[in-house]
Amino acid sequence: MKEISFRESVNLMVTKAMSLMDLSPGLQEKIRVCNSTYTVRFGVKLRGEIHTFTGYRSVHSEHMEPVKGGIRYALNVNQDEVEALAGLMSYKCALVETPFGGSKGGLCIDPNAWEPDELERITRRFAYELIKRDLVNPSQNVPAPDMGTGEREMAWIADQYKRMNTTDINGAACVTGKPVSAGGIHGRTEATGRGVQYALQEFFRHPEDIEMAKLVGTLKGKRIIVQGLGNVGYHAAKFLSEQDGSIITAVLERDGAIIDDDGLNIEELKAYIAKNGGVKGFKGTYVEDGASVLEKDCDILIPAAMEGVIHLKNADRISANLIIEAANGPVTAGADEILRDKGVVIIPDMYANAGGVTVSYFEWVKNLSHIRFGRMQRRAEEMRANLLVEELQNLSNDNGLNWTLSDNFRNLYLKGEGELELVRSGLDDTMRTAYQAIREVYHARDDVDSLRTAAFIVSVGRIATSYQTKGL
Ligand code: GLU
Repeated sequence: MKEISFRESVNLMVTKAMSLMDLSPGLQEKIRVCNSTYTVRFGVKLRGEIHTFTGYRSVHSEHMEPVKGGIRYALNVNQDEVEALAGLMSYKCALVETPFGGSKGGLCIDPNAWEPDELERITRRFAYELIKRDLVNPSQNVPAPDMGTGEREMAWIADQYKRMNTTDINGAACVTGKPVSAGGIHGRTEATGRGVQYALQEFFRHPEDIEMAKLVGTLKGKRIIVQGLGNVGYHAAKFLSEQDGSIITAVLERDGAIIDDDGLNIEELKAYIAKNGGVKGFKGTYVEDGASVLEKDCDILIPAAMEGVIHLKNADRISANLIIEAANGPVTAGADEILRDKGVVIIPDMYANAGGVTVSYFEWVKNLSHIRFGRMQRRAEEMRANLLVEELQNLSNDNGLNWTLSDNFRNLYLKGEGELELVRSGLDDTMRTAYQAIREVYHARDDVDSLRTAAFIVSVGRIATSYQTKGL
């Protein structure tokens, strides 16, 4: 078998799902193809010389607008990759019911090779090229962070849009993932990793599914290997180890892998990487050939870095029973088949990493409503809760019952929900609901052999309905 491109790989997987659905060939093709890809080459004068950069913005599906998806900064960004990622965004948005079509952007650049003020000039110039073609626009195309970009770049893009559209009152909604001080939302930075945690928690609520992955019990004590300690991998590893009692036995990074079967301290490791540029030297066993550690025995494998890391050549050596795709496209179509034949359960990317776009949706709504979530109701909720607690206390006193509410209950019950709590609640609900939709299809049909195919059936079904309603 030959490895195919990322875009072909996504298309192969979606085609497989489509073959199990009742859709006309024409509609299948319409859903599968990427509507458009804009390529721009622009020059920026830096360090006394003109440097030419190549950037892309692909729009996969406009069955709903705006279209949504991140902007990636990496040297290997190319059209095939951006189109594959845009497609995944369409399927992802439909799956978690965010009212968007799919898009993705990328800039061929090594972000570490430039100083922050140089990156700002490059980003603003790229943004200018996209904005003037409505490829950044609150009602048409709303980018977000992806690999190599974060809040800082999003703040520059938002500011650039506002400079070019001074009377657009909804300007802040042209991009998500902004810093809270520039119209962002609490909980967006942690959102993708938090979504991975919620996805696993939901998976472990279903005994049938746990058994399918040849596991028992809960997340507590599960041995997890994480590939990539970037924004997504870091937050997922942190929450799973600190809150669910899972043990992170290995972390793979650019310079190799670090192993500790007793569990790595993620906060300490993150700080160590920030200081030393890699994992080498951190307490534990260092392995220079990081990729080989993907094959190490564990319960759950979390590829959280980039596409294509589990491929035809290493798939049959993967020991994990459960893989959760925190990155986009970490398992190639060929590897997917090998793993399925081995009985490995894969929680697919379009679901597993949808926490980011889900909270982006909340941010976009916040920007359009011009008010922070919880601002109107928080104190009213606290007042009502307080009334009840006081009344209970009075009843107890009046009847000589001598009841006292525990401090823990009082504190939790009396605290009104702020933006962060509401965002987490909305994200948790989204991840639970989406997983339930996937597993329902998976368990109801004998011809659906993976959670990925089930997820595609759910999301393609919704996109198809949307096109059909429009009369296409
Ligand atoms: N880049 C992220 C993703 O791949 C987030 C996209 C967004 O928030 O629009 O899902």
